[in-house]
Amino acid sequence: MESKPRIGFLGLGHMGLPMAKNLHSAGYDLRAFDVMPQAVAAAREAGIRTVDTGAEAARDVQIVLTMFPSGQHVLDAYRDYLLEAAAPDTLFLECSTIDVAQAREAAELAVAAGHRSADAPVSGGVVGAEAGTLTFMLGADEQDLPAITPVLEVMGKRIVHCGGHGAGQAAKVCNNMLLGISMIGAAEAFVLGERLGLTHQALFDVISSASGQCWSVTTNCPVPGPVPSSPANRDYTPGFAAALMTKDLGLASSALQLTETDAHMGALAATLYARFTESGGAGADFSAIINAIRDGSL
Ligand code: NAD
Repeated sequence: MESKPRIGFLGLGHMGLPMAKNLHSAGYDLRAFDVMPQAVAAAREAGIRTVDTGAEAARDVQIVLTMFPSGQHVLDAYRDYLLEAAAPDTLFLECSTIDVAQAREAAELAVAAGHRSADAPVSGGVVGAEAGTLTFMLGADEQDLPAITPVLEVMGKRIVHCGGHGAGQAAKVCNNMLLGISMIGAAEAFVLGERLGLTHQALFDVISSASGQCWSVTTNCPVPGPVPSSPANRDYTPGFAAALMTKDLGLASSALQLTETDAHMGALAATLYARFTESGGAGADFSAIINAIRDGSL
C-alpha cells in the first residue's frame, strides 16, 4: 500500500482546524501552523503535530495546504517563506477562497519555484468542514489528480475538477455570485408577499415547487417557519455570515472587471451586501438581508 503524504497545514481557523482534524484522524502526518498561538494550541490539543513557524510546516512534506483569509495572505506567505522552504516538486494545495487573478499568480509562483500547484476552494461551511462533507472545486493539472484526490476525499464528499490552475476559484466565484443574487431575490419575493397578504408558508409552498425554486428558498429560507433548519429560525445566527458573502461578492466584482463582463445583478448584489455588512449585518447569516429589505434601509 502506498504511504500517505506528509502535509504542512497552514491556517487553523474556523475551517482549517476541523479539516486538519479530519486529516489527522485519517492517519495523515501533519505539520500544522497558524500565526495565532491559540489556534496552534487547539490543534495540539487535538493531538495534531504543530510547528513553530510557517517555513517549518513547508519543510520535509509532500503537500503544503493553505487555508487563509485572503489572497494577499497566500501570496505573502508563498513569496516570503513557503516556496523557498519546500523541497522541489512539493504540491501546493491552496484551499482558501481568493481572487481568481491571485490564484493564477500563486500557481505561477509555485510552478516557477519548481513546485506543483492546485487551487481547491470549498463550499459547505464549518458544518461541512467538521463532518468531512465539503465540496471542493478543483483547478489542477490532470497529472496531479491522483496525488490530490485521496487527500480531498478525507475532508469532502464531492470533488469537481473544473479545469487548470485558477478554475476552482473561478467556479466558486460564479456560484457564490449567483447565491448572493438569488438570496436577495428570495428576500424581495417574501417581503412583497407579506405586503400582498400572503403567509410565508403559502408562498413557500408555491415557490418551492414552482419555477422560482432555489437553494436560497428551499434550504436557507430567509423567513422563519417553512424550513425549520434555516438560520431565520434562530435569529439569523450563521450559517454563512453576511461578511463572507460580501467578501465573495467582492471577489466576483474583481473577476467581472478582469473579464470585462457587464453583470448588472452581480454588481448590484455586491453593493447591497457591502451596505448591509457596513450597517451592522456582518455577523448575521446572509439571509438576514431580508430585514434591511423589509425596513427599506438598503
Ligand atoms: P479564519 O479567519 O477563521 O481562519 C484563517 C486562519 O488563517 C486564521 O486562524 C489566521 O490566523 C490564519 N493565518 C493567516 N495568515 C497566516 C499565515 N501566514 N500562516 C498561518 N496561518 C495564517 O477563516 P475561515 O472561516 O477558516 O476561512 C478560511 C478560508 O475559507 C477563507 O478564505 C474563507 O473565505 C473560506 N471559506 C470559509 C467558509 C466559512 O464558512 N467560514 C466557507 C467556505 C470558504
